[in-house]
Amino acid sequence: MINLVVGAGISGAVIANLIATKLGEKVLIIDKRSHIGGNCFDYRDDNGIMIQKYGSHIFHTSDKKVWDYVNHFSKFNNYEHKVLAKFEDKITTVPFNINSLYDVFDNKKAKILEKKLMDLFEPETKISILEFQKQNDNDLKELAEFIYDKIFLNYTQKQWGRSLCDLDSLVASRVPVFISKDNRYFQDKYQGIPENGYSKLIENMLENENIQIQLNTDFKSIKHCNYKRIFYSGSIDEFFIYKYGYLPYRSLSFELKKYNKEFYQNNSVVNYTCEEDYTRIHEYKYYLNDKSPSTIIAKEYPCEFIDGQNERFYPIPDEKNIYLYGKYIKEAELINNVYFLGRLGKYKYFNIDMAILDALNLFESRILKEKK
Ligand SMILES: Cc1cc2nc3c(=O)[nH]c(=O)nc-3n(C[C@H](O)[C@H](O)[C@H](O)COP(=O)(O)OP(=O)(O)OC[C@H]3O[C@@H](n4cnc5c(N)ncnc54)[C@H](O)[C@@H]3O)c2cc1C
Repeated sequence: MINLVVGAGISGAVIANLIATKLGEKVLIIDKRSHIGGNCFDYRDDNGIMIQKYGSHIFHTSDKKVWDYVNHFSKFNNYEHKVLAKFEDKITTVPFNINSLYDVFDNKKAKILEKKLMDLFEPETKISILEFQKQNDNDLKELAEFIYDKIFLNYTQKQWGRSLCDLDSLVASRVPVFISKDNRYFQDKYQGIPENGYSKLIENMLENENIQIQLNTDFKSIKHCNYKRIFYSGSIDEFFIYKYGYLPYRSLSFELKKYNKEFYQNNSVVNYTCEEDYTRIHEYKYYLNDKSPSTIIAKEYPCEFIDGQNERFYPIPDEKNIYLYGKYIKEAELINNVYFLGRLGKYKYFNIDMAILDALNLFESRILKEKK
């Protein structure tokens, strides 16, 4: 009997790789899309630029186990991500940090604010914007209001289609104020982009005689009574045919444009935090330092996920949706040999490293134990 893995994204690829290599068992991995890689999928276009089809993906982790694992399948370059935010006539780093004070205020005011922030908070800490707004000092109150209005409010409303306070604190903690002069977006110990792209990394994970890949194949079309185990990295509500209702997601659309000049902007990602209807512009050639006289950018437009029309990108972890997800989890506990994993299976805002860790843990803490 063989194992079925639904979804050839990073989660599906890790579990397929472990079952095939560590247990020596056969795996059929299917994906309804025409490619492997899930949302990490990338490809080189006619200009020789590696395009990340579903938006910028930067690998970052502080977990050595995860880092060692991915390094079996690809070398990584030493790219460290920085993000800029553009509003009115200003441009600064996000997360908003000590350097940002000098980008947006005059020197005298920036110095006063820097001293107050350094006196009040531990250096190198990240304070969520909701927490930061609770200050008593008038200057800091004004600063909190400035950051909230100019950098977070419109951006977050555009991204989520709702206000920050309606969302789980996990989402709010992703938009911090950083008490630091470190302009990097991530502070993880290990960071980079796979040297030949994510699709190649995932292809290498699946390169095994025990693994068969079948694309353009929806789980719905599969007869699933005859598998030893099913690993499901699609959305858990879809598995149960939406019996309690749909788990909502945010989706995105990307408008690609070519420019016949070397660079369009001076950073890989620029956030647009005002009234523009797009949230970010990605310029992909920065990630692998691709050399080309032209460049490709993608404008990112957030929208609601509509089944059959676009892709699921971000779970929306508010109270109501977490409750609904809990109902599906209870249902999942009643069935044997079906395991839910990944961003969609767990309805969690996993980064790539968390998705990998989730699959590694599933294998070690359940599959190996059940095998004994
Ligand atoms: C815009 C964006 C930017 C991101 N940037 C970063 C970043 O910079 N760094 C980072 O660490 N993480 C980032 N992430 C998160 C990253 O994309 C995820 O952690 C990762 O892709 C999760 O992998 P997964 O395999 O769990 O899910 P997915 O990549 O979504 O893969 C699931 C796969 O299952 C398939 N599938 C679903 N249902 C079925 C079905 N019924 N039948 C067959 N196949 C099915 C889907 O087609 C898909 O290919 C970003 C995410 C988004 C949306």
